[in-house]
Amino acid sequence: MLFCTAVNCMDGRVQLPVNRCLREHFAAEYVDTVTEAGPVGILSADPESPASRSIYDRIDISVTAHLSTALAIVAHANCAGNPISDSDQQHQVESCVVHLRRRYPDLEIAGLWLDEEWTVHLFGAP
Ligand SMILES: [Zn+2]
Repeated sequence: MLFCTAVNCMDGRVQLPVNRCLREHFAAEYVDTVTEAGPVGILSADPESPASRSIYDRIDISVTAHLSTALAIVAHANCAGNPISDSDQQHQVESCVVHLRRRYPDLEIAGLWLDEEWTVHLFGAP
């Protein structure tokens, strides 16, 4: 069994495309999923806030219990939980990738953007 981890929006429309993309990209069988309403907004607002720490706690469970080796941070167009422009959200994804690479140096980290057609775009690749 090979697990990866997604920090994804709670939006139901993004779950399946993200799951499919990450199983392929990380060659994983299972995607442990931490959901928030616009997680890139939460992590960007304050990476040490209680809400951000709650995200790390759940990432840590995935890494410790399931030996997850890869982590993706996800944002999408028209996010109700993070209602800012696409380009601002994409910048947040990029800064989250940098931050998560520092926090989790042993994990492969990717950033995902889903456009209004729910097409997944991978970025933040090393
Ligand atoms: Zn959203």
